[in-house]
Amino acid sequence: MKKITVTSPLLPDLDEFHEMLKEIWTIKWVTNMGKFHEQLEKALAEYLKVPYISLFTNGTMPLLIALKALRVKGEVITTPYSFVATTHSIWWNGSTPVFVDIEEETCGMDPEKIEAAITPRTTAIMPVHCYGYPVKLKRIQEIADHYGLKVIYDAAHAFGVEVGGNSVLTAGDMSALSFHATKVYNTLEGGALIVHDEDTKKNIDYLKNFGFTGETEVVAPGINCKLDEVRCAYGLLNLKQVDQAIANRQKIAGLYREALRGVPGIRFFDDMPGVRHNYGYFPVFINVEEYGMTRDELYFKMQDQGVFGRRYFYPLISTFSTYRSLPSSALENLPVATKIANEVICLPMHQELTEEDVNKILKLIVK
Ligand SMILES: *Cc1c(COP(=O)(O)O)cnc(C)c1O
Repeated sequence: MKKITVTSPLLPDLDEFHEMLKEIWTIKWVTNMGKFHEQLEKALAEYLKVPYISLFTNGTMPLLIALKALRVKGEVITTPYSFVATTHSIWWNGSTPVFVDIEEETCGMDPEKIEAAITPRTTAIMPVHCYGYPVKLKRIQEIADHYGLKVIYDAAHAFGVEVGGNSVLTAGDMSALSFHATKVYNTLEGGALIVHDEDTKKNIDYLKNFGFTGETEVVAPGINCKLDEVRCAYGLLNLKQVDQAIANRQKIAGLYREALRGVPGIRFFDDMPGVRHNYGYFPVFINVEEYGMTRDELYFKMQDQGVFGRRYFYPLISTFSTYRSLPSSALENLPVATKIANEVICLPMHQELTEEDVNKILKLIVK
C-alpha cells in the first residue's frame, strides 16, 4: 500500500546542488557568512519583500534571540495552540509564558483576550500566524502600543504570506521564520529573523555569532546559530521552485475544499480576502456530533489505509508537564484552544500529492 505522508520536503535538483557543492569545495569557505549566505539573505529579502533579514540555523533560535535583543523580561503573552518551540523560547529566555485563548476563525491568538492577561510584569506578546493565517495585526499592535509591550511574531508558518500586498513579516518588532524540512520553504534545518532597521540587523548578526563585531572584539554575550554555506546554497536553489510548490499546494487546497464543502461536521478554512496564502497546511476540524465519528477515530482510520494526517496542534502546549502548573494553563482559561486541539487533523499537504492521492484521502473522509 502506498503511504501518503502529511508532508514531504521540497528538495532542489540534485545535479544543480552538486554544482554548488563543487564550488564550496573549491572555495573551502563552508560557514561564517560566506558568499552563499550573503546571496541567500539578499534573495530572501527580495522574495519576502522585507528590507532586513538575518539567517539562522533553525527557527527556534531567532525566537530566543528576538527576546534577548529586545530585552524582554517578566511575563510574555502567547498562545498554547502552536508548536512547543514557541513557549520553549520564552522559557529559555527566563521569562514566564502566559497563555491566552485563540479564536476559531484563524486559530490565532484572540486579541480581545489579551488585555485581561496583562499584569505589571508583562513586557511582550508572542503570537503565531497559525497555518500561515495572519492574526489580527492591527488590534494586537494597538494593545501593545497602549501598554508599551514588544511584539514578536512566530511566523514559522508564514513564509511568503502577504496582507494587502505587504508581507505579514513587517508587523510587530520582529518576526521569526522556520526553514525546517517540513515547512513550505526549507533549508533542511534553518530559519530567519525579520527586523525593521539596519542597526537592529547588525545587532542580531552579532548575537548569532558569539557577539563578535570584528576579529578581536566581542560586544555582547552572543551565541552560535549561524547558517552554513551548504544549507544556504540549498536554500538558493529551493527559492527558485517555491512558487511552483505553492501553486501545487493551492491546487490541492482547491480540491479538498470543493469536496469537503457541505460535508456535515467538517469545517475548514477558506482563503482570507486580500491575503496571499502559502497553503502550508490543510487543517480540518471534526465536530463529533455532526460527523458521527471522533477526530481520533477518523485519524486512525486514515492511518489504517496508509494516509498519515497529523493532529497539529495536539496536545496543547499548556498541557505539557513543564507548563501545566502555570495559572494560565487552566482549561477554563483556554476553552477554544482545547476544543480545536481535539477537533483538528491536518490532511496531507505537499507539492507532490497527486489528484489520485487526494481522491483516496477524500474517499476516507466523505462518506
Ligand atoms: C517549525 C516551528 C517552529 C520551530 O522551527 P524549527 O526550525 O523546527 O526550530 C516554531 N514555531 C512554529 C509554529 C513552528 O511550526
